[in-house]
Amino acid sequence: MLQKFNPKNKDLQVYIDGQLYHRDEANVSVFDSVVQGGDAVWEGLRVYNGRLFCLDKHLQRLHDSAHAMAFTDVPDKETIKKAVFKTLEANGMRDGVHIRLTLTRGKKITSGMDPRLNQSGSTLIVLAEWKPPVYPPSITLSTSTIRRNSPSTIDSKIHHNNLINNILAKIESNFAGTDAALMLDLHGFVSEANGTNIFMIRDGKVLTPTADSCLHGITRRTIIDLCKSNNLPIKERNISLTEFYTADQVFVTGTMGELTPVSAIDGRKIVNKHSQNTLNQINTLFNELTKTQGEPLPF
Ligand code: PMP
Repeated sequence: MLQKFNPKNKDLQVYIDGQLYHRDEANVSVFDSVVQGGDAVWEGLRVYNGRLFCLDKHLQRLHDSAHAMAFTDVPDKETIKKAVFKTLEANGMRDGVHIRLTLTRGKKITSGMDPRLNQSGSTLIVLAEWKPPVYPPSITLSTSTIRRNSPSTIDSKIHHNNLINNILAKIESNFAGTDAALMLDLHGFVSEANGTNIFMIRDGKVLTPTADSCLHGITRRTIIDLCKSNNLPIKERNISLTEFYTADQVFVTGTMGELTPVSAIDGRKIVNKHSQNTLNQINTLFNELTKTQGEPLPF
């Protein structure tokens, strides 16, 4: 499931702090905090059929992350929204698009860790690419030895760019020959995959790990809410690896790949005999939502 270069993205226009640049000229300073320390926050968004899906939720999470990191001079939501619209319009994009929205602490006056070296405000980057959902029809997982950060180290409630925790897990999955890494929390319960949240279904009941150490994903929340409003039993609780091995269905969720079924974990096949109806129902509900919800593009 390694993504390939899409020639449609050859001449992308990328937004950086109010200006649009051809992708070959779209750069940040070597003094930018994201270069110096991964000191930035981000969101991944999708455009479906002329609408920005869950835009307000993504802007809220970006603002919350920036506030928790004590960024200064953060652009307000309206400014960020306009920057996203401007980028999409410049690229003629209305569907099949993924946006990587990044807000860095900004440029430093000299290299160093201290945020007081940042004296010229944050840097806003909007990278929109032609990118239909990237995952294959199903994926395999292997459990990583790298544990997902807990709130005692780096709180997953901050959606930050310091992704080494997850990248180390992904490296293990690459060597293991699986599509993604499954990460446990410090207590040994399943947390999430390296770039997606995870759900299981057993006997028609849907379960997902608590959001103590996983990212509080927007797709995850959408699925939980959909289940609740459609009377599908859903629970957030600690779940062991054995429970996942013996699930009827397992799927991962995220903006990049939407809902993707998992066919095996650590070589144990997910037998898939039961609860297919529940998974189909969740998938249908989610797809309906992406067709009908979201902030309409103004162009
Ligand atoms: N977990 C991790 C570690 C992620 O990076 C992402 C993508 N941002 C997700 C889960 C999925 O989150 P969302 O549904 O908000 O895209």
